[in-house]
Amino acid sequence: MKTIYLVIPCYNEEAVLPETTKRLIELMTHLQEKGTITADSRIVLVDDGSKDRTWAMIEEYYRTQPQFFEGIHLSRNQGHQNALLAGMMTVRDRCDAIISLDADLQDDVNAIVEMIEKFTEGYDIVYGVRSARKTDSAFKRMTAESFYKLMNMMGAEVVYNHADYRLMSRRALDGLSQFREVNLFLRGIVPMIGYPSTTVYYERAKRFAGESKYPLKKMLAFAMQGITSLSTKPIRMITSLGALIFVVSIAMIIYCLVRYFTGHTVAGWTSTTISVWAIGGLILFALGVIGEYIGKIYLETKQRPKYFVETYLSDRSVQHDDLTER
Ligand code: UDP
Ligand code: MG
Repeated sequence: MKTIYLVIPCYNEEAVLPETTKRLIELMTHLQEKGTITADSRIVLVDDGSKDRTWAMIEEYYRTQPQFFEGIHLSRNQGHQNALLAGMMTVRDRCDAIISLDADLQDDVNAIVEMIEKFTEGYDIVYGVRSARKTDSAFKRMTAESFYKLMNMMGAEVVYNHADYRLMSRRALDGLSQFREVNLFLRGIVPMIGYPSTTVYYERAKRFAGESKYPLKKMLAFAMQGITSLSTKPIRMITSLGALIFVVSIAMIIYCLVRYFTGHTVAGWTSTTISVWAIGGLILFALGVIGEYIGKIYLETKQRPKYFVETYLSDRSVQHDDLTER
């Protein structure tokens, strides 16, 4: 039996909460009766500075059913990723694993059963992956899928079609807590933690009430945030472009000289054209080189953890007291 906490960020979700909590209570009760999860398991609702009745409702759930609910109220709206992180970091010491999911239940809750199974088998991280997006509009589907492609192209490795529906074991969460960066892009950071990981597939449903809090503008900002907080590949692309243009400029120099000696030019054309190409290429290349160093500084300032020990085999049982005073 495992103690599982479900962490749910909620921003202006008064329309969906009654249905969401009803379905989750059903699921929790079922899992508790089956003996899969302990009675200490909880649903943690994180209010991300909502402007509607969300927090009042969460307080009410906690007051009437403390055996199911916990509530966390953030001081103001901090965005989905931060709300999720706040929830996970607040409760990670109280459970064996956390499953994060959205308040609108677009991610099929039945996958939770499978996630817990995988966790019992020994996986530390279980990614929920959307197998189909039949219910999303063609536009949302296209933009969302290009989002994952763009991210990977730009060197920010994310699990394809995986959002923030995932299970993380306690030690994976402890690992996550060691990433001190301010711009924390969970989808990119979690795979960096390592440990045995696997995926479960589910079908994405429609939001049954309320509106999406991720219009296209926010999604683009989210992609930018993901790329710039995970990858220095854009800088490298500038370096390559600079090198490429410089190579092209050599060809241009030869061409210009040939034109010059065969007399097909007006005065000044050769020197002007050559300088435009050669200097342009050199400037871009130099910018790229400077960028490489800035990229290094950027990675250093993040002070990311360098490793996590998964197992340490040793037949010595060392007590700290024995080792002192050598
Ligand atoms: N959310 C949040 N803070 C925000 C925006 C969204 O906590 O500033 C929560 C929201 O309540 C929901 C989840 O993030 O539980 C995902 O949002 P939504 O369903 O609107 O995104 P979509 O599924 O359309 O991508
Ligand atoms: Mg949604």
